[in-house]
Amino acid sequence: MQLQFVGCGDAFGSGGRFNTCFHLTGARTNCLIDCGATSLVALKRLGIERNAIDLILITHFHADHFGGVPFFVLDAQFFSKRSQPLTIAGPIGLKQAYANVMETAFAGSSRASRKFELSLVELAPDKLWHAHNIDVLSTRVRHGEVDGPFHAYRITAEKRFIAYTGDTEWTDALIGIGRDADLLIAESYSFEKKVPLHLSYRSLLEQLAAINPKRLILTHMNDDMLGRTIEVTHERATDGLIVAV
Ligand SMILES: [Zn+2]
Ligand SMILES: [Zn+2]
Repeated sequence: MQLQFVGCGDAFGSGGRFNTCFHLTGARTNCLIDCGATSLVALKRLGIERNAIDLILITHFHADHFGGVPFFVLDAQFFSKRSQPLTIAGPIGLKQAYANVMETAFAGSSRASRKFELSLVELAPDKLWHAHNIDVLSTRVRHGEVDGPFHAYRITAEKRFIAYTGDTEWTDALIGIGRDADLLIAESYSFEKKVPLHLSYRSLLEQLAAINPKRLILTHMNDDMLGRTIEVTHERATDGLIVAV
């Protein structure tokens, strides 16, 4: 199994990084985790075969995690000539959010017929979902009041276990989702400043022993965090980074 950070940036391009998108691949696995507004550009820059991706797993509907979906879907329709089925899975509300984002990006596009089968799956929190050779456990996290729900994910694939916090301030739900993970990808938005609805490196460190991941990689860093790397002792994502899982 390998995971490539297609994009590890925050919403506003801190450090010139692409929006959140991770590509998880293995012998029987090929999925994206999040697809932010700039992700199609990043996928093309890295030469990633888009038609081989059978699942896009969405943590929440903010544009830096979900805004790339119209570009991915319409690229699949018109340019990559996709014929393989595609599943997009995410929090409850995904179907309406999908219609909204498609219509906002390209009016009429949510209702256009496709040359490939597109399935939209709304994942209930705290229930295991199995599809495309992976097990996905989602849990609700704390990233806002009105534009959620917001998920963190615990993914089991090919006997490996990957957890991703999504965007969230600290919540004990992250302990359950990340405990003993082979790889925990954690938001580390700021170094120590408490930014509402986001996770700081300091807050994460205070709880890290309880999560006890085998490997931790930090992502979704703002300029403050990116500017203090000399004080950071854990691995940090970069766009294009490939890690074995
Ligand atoms: Zn974000
Ligand atoms: Zn967000």
